[in-house]
Amino acid sequence: MLQALLDDVMTTVHAASERHALDLCLRETGTVVQVGGGIARIKGLPGATAEELLRFRGGMLGVAINLEPDEIGVMLLGDSDKLSAGIEVSGTGREADTPIGEGLLGRVIDATGRLLDHGKPLRFSERWPVERPAPAIIERAPVTVPLETGIKAIDALIPIGRGQRELIVGDRQTGKTSVAVDTIINQRDKEVVCIYCAIGQRGTAVARVVDTLRRHEALDNTIVIVASDEDPPGLRFITPYAAMTMAEYFMEKGRDALIVYDDLTRHARAYRELSLLLRRPPGREAYPGDIFYIHSRLLERATHLSAARGGGSLTALPIIETQAQDISAYIPTNLISITDGQVYLSPTLFHKGLLPAIDVGKSVSRVGGKTQYPALRAVAGDLRLAYAQFEELETFARFATRLDEDTRRTIEHGRRVREVLKQSEHQPLRASKQIAGLKAVNAGLFDDLPLDQVAAAEVAVQERMSRELPELCERMEAGRKLDDEAWRQVLEMARDAIIGLRGQSRA
Ligand code: ATP
Ligand code: MG
Repeated sequence: MLQALLDDVMTTVHAASERHALDLCLRETGTVVQVGGGIARIKGLPGATAEELLRFRGGMLGVAINLEPDEIGVMLLGDSDKLSAGIEVSGTGREADTPIGEGLLGRVIDATGRLLDHGKPLRFSERWPVERPAPAIIERAPVTVPLETGIKAIDALIPIGRGQRELIVGDRQTGKTSVAVDTIINQRDKEVVCIYCAIGQRGTAVARVVDTLRRHEALDNTIVIVASDEDPPGLRFITPYAAMTMAEYFMEKGRDALIVYDDLTRHARAYRELSLLLRRPPGREAYPGDIFYIHSRLLERATHLSAARGGGSLTALPIIETQAQDISAYIPTNLISITDGQVYLSPTLFHKGLLPAIDVGKSVSRVGGKTQYPALRAVAGDLRLAYAQFEELETFARFATRLDEDTRRTIEHGRRVREVLKQSEHQPLRASKQIAGLKAVNAGLFDDLPLDQVAAAEVAVQERMSRELPELCERMEAGRKLDDEAWRQVLEMARDAIIGLRGQSRA
């Protein structure tokens, strides 16, 4: 009894002394000795800890990242023009953190919670640190549920699972953002919460994405977190971690979240800028030695949690920009080895108008295949084979003057497969529609149509599928296998749709 009382008293004393230490630490101040380029060097504050959030007089925040014996290097989270030498700075006793919660959905904010959409004040009750440990292996589960992008070429040939990390990589202006934004749009009726994290982009580009999401009714389900090219490198650097924290909130509630990083090339540059300013030794391509760790510790946090941890998932789609299609450059190879596959966008295909410009041969998904709907998998196998054969033959056929009948048919079939894999942006398709169109092209139903009528025929097949075979659609999207009789029904419906279309065009 006495011991328990004593323990109690000791705990109280202990807590009080800790609070006292914290107060002391809060009162301790340092001064800015140099500032510029988004970095400040300060003297004093011997009690500052690594990654501690510091507050400058006037309210600006910074993060202590270089602790040296007589100086601290601070990355600023605001405009360095507002600081000058001599300004006082104090520790806050906390790490850099970010607001979390449902109230962030539909909003455009920065990593510190500053509003960028001029709407009503942000509602949130908690802030979580931007750097959090990734779940341990034992807390993770294999991916089991597809993350549907609504893009035929991806869902059929490079399927992604919830909890997977899939890189989107390609030169500039090849449709990288479009693929990611379409994937977000496709989640609007799927209860997958989305986070679009823009790093180092022009304000107009971000505004365009926000506008697209709003027009397609996907914004209410999305948090847009932005560090633009005009923001200091410190803010650009912590933004992806803050975005990850916001997404983790949903994952830990047992929900599914999707996060898009647009793009990590610019994130790597922000870190390089910071490191060079802090005079850290430059390594390959002038990046600091820990650039790999910077990205791996970020993406390690995306996973599918085990049932014991609530079963939530966090899918990550980081984007990387390549120069002159060089996917073997430093940052792209780093990211390729950290992720579970990549969607490669080719400028050659883009210029030929084959959109989305996904190069199926250079793209891969290492884990999502297991989550693909069986009905989609059934049509995808034939598709891949027909397409690969066609690509080889098409190159060869350019040099041949006369082709035998078999080769000609394979090429004509391949052209129609390629036509069916085209898709306009912001028009994601539900799985059953994709399956119906792909089944029809595989069965050669479009082979006798002129090439310019294939798209219309495909739409006719898709529409009729939804209208006439809703029960089969449900079965496909519930992840059940279709028997021969069901496939026969699909093909019959497709034939009728094409005949109907021909009748219309004749009339
Ligand atoms: P950046 O390197 O500038 O970030 P990006 O690779 O993200 O470019 P996007 O901005 O997504 O490329 O797309 C480039 C252009 O291509 C845009 O004008 C977009 O509208 C168009 N585009 C992308 N995908 C498609 C598509 N499937 N159909 C039609 N147009 C498309
Ligand atoms: Mg882009």
